[in-house]
Amino acid sequence: MSSVDEQEFANVDLEAVRESLKTWYRENHREFPWRETCEPYEILISEVMSQQTQLGRVVEAWEAFLEHWPTVEELAEADRGDVVTFWTAHSLGYNNRAKYLHEAAQQVVEEYDSEFPSEPDELQELMGVGPYTANAVASFAFNTGDAVVDTNVKRVLYRAFDVPDDDSAFESSANQLMPAGDSRIWNNALMELGGVVCGQTPACDDGGCPWRAWCQAYESGDFTAPDVPTQPSFEGSRRQFRGRVVRALGENEGVELDALGPKVRVDYTPDGTYGREWLRGLLDDLAEDGLVTIDEFDDSTVVTLRR
Ligand code: SF4
Repeated sequence: MSSVDEQEFANVDLEAVRESLKTWYRENHREFPWRETCEPYEILISEVMSQQTQLGRVVEAWEAFLEHWPTVEELAEADRGDVVTFWTAHSLGYNNRAKYLHEAAQQVVEEYDSEFPSEPDELQELMGVGPYTANAVASFAFNTGDAVVDTNVKRVLYRAFDVPDDDSAFESSANQLMPAGDSRIWNNALMELGGVVCGQTPACDDGGCPWRAWCQAYESGDFTAPDVPTQPSFEGSRRQFRGRVVRALGENEGVELDALGPKVRVDYTPDGTYGREWLRGLLDDLAEDGLVTIDEFDDSTVVTLRR
């Protein structure tokens, strides 16, 4: 991967951002069998299958495929017609992908002595393996990939760190964000966050997003993204204000209730409609989600962001 130039994230605690996402992934990710293996052949099959098919349906096809052809050598020796027939029978999309997969297996056996190359550039030499798939296999099998940038990742980066909607900006930011030499867990985690929590309609609180404390969209309430041109309709101001609380506490260590109020709403007045009671409601929710701690003293209430 490219060297970590942390300039673009100068005001962000990168270590905390990275650790929070990795921890969230370890504790929450969906279990797919190809996430349990480092075998490049098995990972390549899962990547090619999931290009046109929903992940849930890929599981069965992937298992059946590996039962038929458990190793790259066995696939290389298979009759191409059988591979294509399998592909069609499992509704896996373009038959060409099956033909390419078969040809790639023959390449691995003949040109690489049955050992998959481990670098993205070399993997791209295999038939039908483009830059995205090569990088995914390098990451998940060998931990040697660059940051993966797909639609889900772009959506997350755009929302969380205000990365402009530009392919080279996404690529550069994604690589700066990725911890060096950790592409396996990192790429899985970031794609999972975009796929499960930061979807077109994000589930910031309900999904327990680990990046709420840093996310620009969570702070501003603007959840548009390159693939979400208009604001998701669910978005209410309450979420927006919760984001502001988190942001304000991120910048200040331990804030008294009435000092916090004006940072959240310009029209905050302690006894008004948007006063202590209203703010306390937001804070209680955030405390329940484990994001803030509320300390009651005789004459004050102090709120702190949990880190
Ligand atoms: S806080 Fe919400 S918008 Fe921001 S990264 Fe998390 S899920 Fe996406």
